[in-house]
Amino acid sequence: MANSSDLHEQPLALVVDDDLSLRLSMSAALQKAGFAVKEAENGHRALAVFQSCHPDLVLLDVVMPEMDGFETCIALRKLPRGRYTQILMVTGLDDTESIERAFDAGANDFVSKPINWSMLGHRGKYMLRAGRAFQQLNRNERRMAKTQELAKLGNWELDLTNNIFHCSAKASRLLGLGKDKRYLTCKELVSSVVVQEQDRVLEKISAAISSNGSFSVNYRIILPDGTQRHILNRGETFFHENGMAEEMLGAVQDVTLLKNAEEEIRLLAFYDGLTGLANRMLFMDRLKNEISVARRHKRMFALLFLDLDQFKRINDTYGHHIGDLLLKNVSETLRKTTRSSDTVSGPGPAEEDTLIARLGGDEFILLLSNIEVPDDAAVVARRILQEIPRDHNLEGYQISVTTSIGISTFPADGEELESLLKHADSAMYHAKETGRNNYQFYTESLNAEVQERFSLEQDLKTAIAQDQLILFYQPQLDLASGKIIGAEALIRWMHPQKGLIPPDKFIPLAEESGLIADINKWVIQKGCRQNETWRAAGLKPIKIAVNLSGNQFTDQNIIQILQEALEEADLDGGNLEVEITESTLIQNTKRTISILNQMKDLKLKIALDDFGTGYSSLSYLTSFPVDAIKIDRSFVMGCTMSKSNRIVIKAIIAMGHSLGMRIVAEGIETSEQLQLLREYGADEGQGFYFSPPVSEEKFVKLLKKGAF
Ligand code: C2E
Ligand code: CA
Ligand code: CA
Repeated sequence: MANSSDLHEQPLALVVDDDLSLRLSMSAALQKAGFAVKEAENGHRALAVFQSCHPDLVLLDVVMPEMDGFETCIALRKLPRGRYTQILMVTGLDDTESIERAFDAGANDFVSKPINWSMLGHRGKYMLRAGRAFQQLNRNERRMAKTQELAKLGNWELDLTNNIFHCSAKASRLLGLGKDKRYLTCKELVSSVVVQEQDRVLEKISAAISSNGSFSVNYRIILPDGTQRHILNRGETFFHENGMAEEMLGAVQDVTLLKNAEEEIRLLAFYDGLTGLANRMLFMDRLKNEISVARRHKRMFALLFLDLDQFKRINDTYGHHIGDLLLKNVSETLRKTTRSSDTVSGPGPAEEDTLIARLGGDEFILLLSNIEVPDDAAVVARRILQEIPRDHNLEGYQISVTTSIGISTFPADGEELESLLKHADSAMYHAKETGRNNYQFYTESLNAEVQERFSLEQDLKTAIAQDQLILFYQPQLDLASGKIIGAEALIRWMHPQKGLIPPDKFIPLAEESGLIADINKWVIQKGCRQNETWRAAGLKPIKIAVNLSGNQFTDQNIIQILQEALEEADLDGGNLEVEITESTLIQNTKRTISILNQMKDLKLKIALDDFGTGYSSLSYLTSFPVDAIKIDRSFVMGCTMSKSNRIVIKAIIAMGHSLGMRIVAEGIETSEQLQLLREYGADEGQGFYFSPPVSEEKFVKLLKKGAF
């Protein structure tokens, strides 16, 4: 609210008296002192004038007809801005009763008749000054109280000469001292602090007194009603000129809400939402801590790195929902396995010595503190392998899964966080390589392998930009005529130091890191352009086949990428075939069918790659617009030796044909194999018997020849 006096450069006075001569004398005296003056002859008039010009000072005669000075004063105070005006009552001499009533009515001061005219002006000016100062103070105090209220702040002082502590009522409440406890000693001050934190608080305060002059300490207190609050207490020491610490001033603040919010955030930040296990961040933090503790106490501990075998395939095949359920099941088993039973069943470490975390995906890690020999870790690993059920019934699906575990121990396998993790990780990979469903300890020789994988992934990031990827082409033939009718584009990486790297070595890496999106796009563009170049050079038009990895297949952009590549190369959609695997087909069925149909709209051919290795059910094929089935190499390879392979091949061909699909045989290496496949009625074939995948240059030569 604005102060009326702020509005007037020259202070304005209102003189109210029914006696004209007195009014004039008072006006003259005030004008002489610098006031502008308005006059009113009675109370009613005074109220009207007040409202129109909001005077800073009102001189009010007590004795007036109709509405006397007291009534007028009370009414004035009730008007807008009436509170801030200085009101001076003019009373009869020594009329003490009037004086009292004047103050009761809200007057600031009084003058008695006869009036000392020369003093009246000064009196008025001083009243204004005092009034302003008072208002300012009032406002500041209210502002401060409001601010403190909002910030849940209370203030205190500590007199260091006698160690007496004095605090505001608010501070006393915040500190849990009760309302009346406003004066107390330092010891009493911390009486409400939770016992474990008392020493820390006292230490902080005395350190501030003796040295650095200020402190800020967070602690918990127990209120008289038993609830616990979080308090932030800050203080600063003030020194006498002689250097002696004299007093300390401070403020306490209730930060409970903040702390609770922090706790919430901590939970979100440190625990895995799916399984409720610790997450990577918390785990790293604990591990760091564990390392320093183990180092100090010369103790041993172990990391168990755990990964579900072929989890990705389960996820791809049955969907993320089922994948999530499996992860929950596994984490539950891990919890149970490392719990109390440990103490009962012997050598393994006890519950509180084990931290289980999920690092992401299907990677779990266990920190086993305080083990005595590496074999303690092996005991736990064996138990986990035993306890995690192989077969899970998840919403009607029967899903079997196994686990691989890698173990590293401190300090033998590393003294730093990174090396311990890396070594547990490579031991886990080793476990996978040695047939899965087992555990392995880290050994020195594993190290190099991991390093290799990591540096390869780094290099791959720049491979496209630096033009290091190339396509090789393997001819695909019409088995009846022996003519080349197509080429499968197969990627290679010409690494500047390591030479030619086959796709098996980097496509899985690319899939894990997401780089596969860029790679597939590149393959599609390059393949389309290449095919068009051959046609433009007058070579016989063929179809080109590209491989699309599963997780890339449902990418939002895949249709757009294909369409743009065709347009850019000016290639007919019928000359492009995409090869996808069975597991790609059966994940996310609705979306897959929609994408396949959009591909068909572009006139593309769709081939099912590696058929026979995955789901291998022909019946579901009827739901998808598939043009060709590629019989996996493993059946072709064994077909001349194994009867069962021959039966499988025959069945695939018969069923495929009945669905109107072309049958392509992959990996034909011998004339016997070729003979058999021809006999069974396979339509197309590819394999080393004709040609391995070759460079562009060599492929053009084969294409010119035209047939085998
Ligand atoms: P795939 O799609 O099954 O490709 C056929 C693989 O079999 C090729 O291996 C090829 O060289 C090999 N092969 C062909 N004929 C014979 C034979 O007669 N005998 C034997 N033993 N092998 C034969 P490559 O080029 O090493 O590719 C391996 C896999 O890498 C491919 O399997 C495919 O899954 C993946 N791949 C290759 N290029 C790409 C690509 O551009 N994108 C994606 N996403 N994956 C690719
Ligand atoms: Ca393929
Ligand atoms: Ca294949």
